[in-house]
Formats: sequence, C-alpha cells, structure tokens
Amino acid sequence: MNLETSGHAGNHVRTLLILGASGDLTGRLLLPGLARLIGSGRAPGIKLAGAGGPGYSQEQWQLRVNTICAEAKKNATTSGAPELGQIADDTHFAELDVTKPGELADLVSRLDGPVAIYFALPPAVSQKACEVLEPGELPETTLLVMEKPFGSDQRSAQELNRTLIRLVPEENIHRVDHFLGKGTVFNILGLRFANRLLEPLFTAEHVEKIEIFYDEELALEERAGYYDKAGALRDMIQSHLLQILGLLTMNAPATLGERDVRDHLGSVLRATALAGTPENSTRRARYTAGTSMGRAVPDYATEKGVDATLQTETLAEVTLNINNSRWAGVPFILRAGKALGKARKEAIITFRPVSHLPTGFKGSDAPTTLRIGFGPDTLELDLDVNGPGDLYTLDAVTMVAELNSPDLLPYGEVLLGVLSGDPTLSVRGDTAEECWRIVDPILAAWAKNDVPLDEYSAGSNGPTAWETNGAKKK
Ligand code: NDP
Repeated sequence: MNLETSGHAGNHVRTLLILGASGDLTGRLLLPGLARLIGSGRAPGIKLAGAGGPGYSQEQWQLRVNTICAEAKKNATTSGAPELGQIADDTHFAELDVTKPGELADLVSRLDGPVAIYFALPPAVSQKACEVLEPGELPETTLLVMEKPFGSDQRSAQELNRTLIRLVPEENIHRVDHFLGKGTVFNILGLRFANRLLEPLFTAEHVEKIEIFYDEELALEERAGYYDKAGALRDMIQSHLLQILGLLTMNAPATLGERDVRDHLGSVLRATALAGTPENSTRRARYTAGTSMGRAVPDYATEKGVDATLQTETLAEVTLNINNSRWAGVPFILRAGKALGKARKEAIITFRPVSHLPTGFKGSDAPTTLRIGFGPDTLELDLDVNGPGDLYTLDAVTMVAELNSPDLLPYGEVLLGVLSGDPTLSVRGDTAEECWRIVDPILAAWAKNDVPLDEYSAGSNGPTAWETNGAKKK
C-alpha cells in the first residue's frame, strides 16, 4: 500500500509537523521510520516541518533530517531516493512554545495542508498544547498524532480524549502504539483468520492458557525521567501487551477496515478484567544490582534520576480473564520486565490436551503450543509425533518458521497510516480508556502496598520465589 492506493483518498496529509524536533523519540524512531517510508517510494510528495524551543535551530534540524535521510538512501528504491533528498532540502524548523495560545495554530495555518501534528513532546506539554487550542482554530482536516502514555489512568485518559475531541473528529486522532506497526503483531490477524488449522481453535474449548511475555535484557538505559514515573505495568502491559492480547482474542472482523478492526478489538478489551484480586492475580518486582548483557547494573533504587520512594516496579505480571463466551475461564498471563537474564518477547498459546490419547503411547505428552516471537520474528509450533526409534513412543518436535522482516520499521508503518488518514493502527479513544480501566485497580492496590514489591538481581530470571514461567498459583 502507498498513499495513493490506501483507499483513504481525500484525506492525505500534505505536511507532517513534528513537535519536539530535537527530542529523543524524533531522532531515534520517528525520523528513521519516516525516512524508510519515504525511501520505499510510498509517501510521494510529503512535506516535513519540525518545531521546538529556542535551544534548537534550522541548521540543527536540517542536519538531523539530512543525516537520517542519507542513511536511508542506502536501501531506497529508485523512486524513493530522490524524495529523500528533496525532503531533507525542503524541511523547515519553526521556533515556538506550544503551550502559548495561538502559536501552534498560527504555524499550522502557514503550512501546506492537510497537516498531521505529531506531538513528540513530554506528555504534560502535549496535554497543555491541546488545552490551549481553541475549537475551530485548526483546519478540520488536521490530524493529531499522540504518543504514549495516553493519560496515566482512566480518568486522565478520559479528560485527554475530551480535550482532543473538541478540536478534531475521532478519526483524525491517532494514538500511536507502535507495536501495532510491528509485522508479527498485526500479522496475528492473518495467522488466526486465514488458516483453517488455527481459526476454529482460538476458543476456551481448545486453549488452556495464553501468555504474553516481554522480558528485556536492557535495564533503565538513562530513561529514569520517564520510566520511574511509569513502571513496567504502565510502560508495557497497559499499552502494548493489551493490544497484542486484543489481536489474539478478538472475533474475526468482516473487513480490515479501521471500523471493523477497532470495533472488535475494543469489544474484547471491554470484556477483559483482572482474573481475581490484585493480591492473587498480580505480582511485581524491582531489580537490584547485578550483571546484564555483560555490564554491571546498579541497584534500580540508586540509578540516576530514580526516586526510590515511588516503589516503581521493573517487572510486572498480571493474570486476566476475558468474560465472554469465547474465552470464559481461560487465564491470560501478561508479563513485562527489564534487566532480565534472557530476552523473551513472545506470545505462547497453550492448547488443551486431546480428549483421549490412545492407550499405549509412551513418552512425551507435552501440550501443543504455538509461539509467536516479536523479536526475532518467528513462529514455532510444538507438536507430539511418533519420532525415530520405538514406533509407540511420542517425541516432541518443533516446527519453526523465521518470518521475513517487513521492509518498513514499526514507526514507518504507523506513519503510513497517519499520512494516508487511516487510523487502523491507532488506538481508538474508547479502547485507550478501557486499557486503563483494566489496570487501574492494580495501580491502586500497588500504591497501597497491598502487593509486595519483590526483588531480583539484574541479569537473573526474576525473583527466585516466582516460577520462571506462568502465573502465580491461586
Ligand atoms: P524528549 O524530552 O527527548 O523531547 C521532548 C521534546 O519536546 C524536545 O524536543 C523539547 O524541545 C520539546 N518541548 C518541550 N517543551 C516544549 C514546548 N513548550 N514547546 C515546544 N517544544 C517543547 O522526549 P522524548 O522524545 O523521549 O519523548 C516524547 C514523547 O514520546 C513522550 O510522550 C514519550 O512518552 C513518547 N515516547 C518516547 C519514546 C522514546 O524512546 N524516547 C518511546 C515511546 C514513546 P526543547 O528541548 O527544545 O524544549
């Protein structure tokens, strides 16, 4: 798909305006994603503008864009390569304070529209910038692109939604969850709904449990300013892992149009809730000093910028249920953490045993499991078969498929959606609120210390008291 074939004709963005031109997200993820997209030839004619505070300049912005576009040229197509040169030559930086009334709307009115405003700003600044915008001040074709975190609980997410909806219609608001732009994440829909082998099996009748892990080896990496206020539950589970859960469990949409996909995703998340109480369905922990990836990692509580009194967790695990006829009774275990001994980024679907195993088989009766890897991108299916040797003995075998990396980066996929006015890969407002509704009781219980904050050494597999795999026994 490119901008011309996206099916969203008439609402194509002409200019992408990035607020936060000098920021980390812009340099590390947004511009590389955009450059790869432009280099692929799928965003012809798009214009780019940057904006930020007085500490940055046109020269610095242009150098930043130029450097990233030059890198992307190495893999560009013949139609995309000249576009990369053009965008780097033509891009403009505007100095502004987005929290001052009138400044942002004035800038937008001078750009070639429709304009997509990408809020790559600290969350409080984004919120303020939207609050000072008056209804009708932005052209109604303007798109607002919001980064995570989208609020910090259900109430603040609702408030932010109310602020945004005053300005533009819901379909012009893109709440970015870049996991939806990852090949293996969105491909869950293809895997589930295009394969007769799997499509009928994703129900409580056949599935024993589903686990979604996002264990990282990386520790804080100097991101205390953000992470210490968020923690693993807000940073990963409330956003990315709940979106993955939604794709793994939603009913089949009639089409891949944004309304069908987002209606079904929203519907299953509305039926999702904690399996029990926070005390018996969640656990949390924080790393202490250790060694991760061959490097010494200090105790989290002593890391630069950390406020140890916040009791921020660096490992979180929750068990959820989906209260509908398809999934009643199945546990869904979501876990995310930092500074762990082994990176493990995957969803594991464990199927129930067959109703009767012919008497006489010996050996493995391990459950059939399907593992979807989110980095590296893989599919693995564990099966029991009559292996070599004794004909009556079962052996566990794994069928492995290494998936080709998509040609766009996740942020490139997200931006393709933004620029073509297609919000399918964006989190709809009601769904963003539902995700907070699911985790708010956990946050409240953790704030009251109803669930102990366990410890694990950086580089280990988590607290020794936790089973390394699976949910807490109830
Ligand atoms: P940074 O602190 O690195 O950058 C913030 C940017 O905002 C700077 O360019 C700053 O410009 C600009 N800014 C601040 N105040 C104003 C203002 N009043 N008017 C205009 N510009 C202003 O933040 P990040 O890039 O890390 O994060 C941005 C957003 O992206 C956040 O919502 C974050 O949660 C989200 N995010 C970040 C990720 C990352 O890896 N960094 C990953 C996922 C999401 P100046 O310094 O010139 O004032």
